[in-house]
Amino acid sequence: MPVDVSDDELVQRFPGEPITHDNAAHYRGRLNRELLMNRCAECGRWHAPAKPICPDCWSSRVSAQPVSGDGVIFMAIFLHRGPAAPGIDYRVPYPVVAVELAEQEGLRFTSTVVGADNDDIHIGAPVRLDWIDRAGVPTPVFALRGSPS
Ligand SMILES: [Zn+2]
Repeated sequence: MPVDVSDDELVQRFPGEPITHDNAAHYRGRLNRELLMNRCAECGRWHAPAKPICPDCWSSRVSAQPVSGDGVIFMAIFLHRGPAAPGIDYRVPYPVVAVELAEQEGLRFTSTVVGADNDDIHIGAPVRLDWIDRAGVPTPVFALRGSPS
């Protein structure tokens, strides 16, 4: 059954995340393990980060819609040091990837890759969406496609 929470609860569930009117639906989706990105009902274009109007046609008929979660790694960096965060140990450099989602060229989502050696994380590698629990909330991550998750 989908989780539905008030705005106040949503902010409490994601401490430190910049939740706004524009991206609240995206974060509500995370609670249901659904990756939602804004899409325009006029021109059909996706866009991220979430904005109240479509950057392509200026329509205000935008809403958060689920994406397939398939994509390819567009950029990868490996953090040797970074902010303290639950579940992150920088003794092994922590991968941060921007994934170009299958829905549209240029539609990207930034997260990490789980269950892979850093040597196997490279630009162009196909990935699929996966979910882990971090600080008590579902967190969208990616797994290399073709690898067991
Ligand atoms: Zn549009």
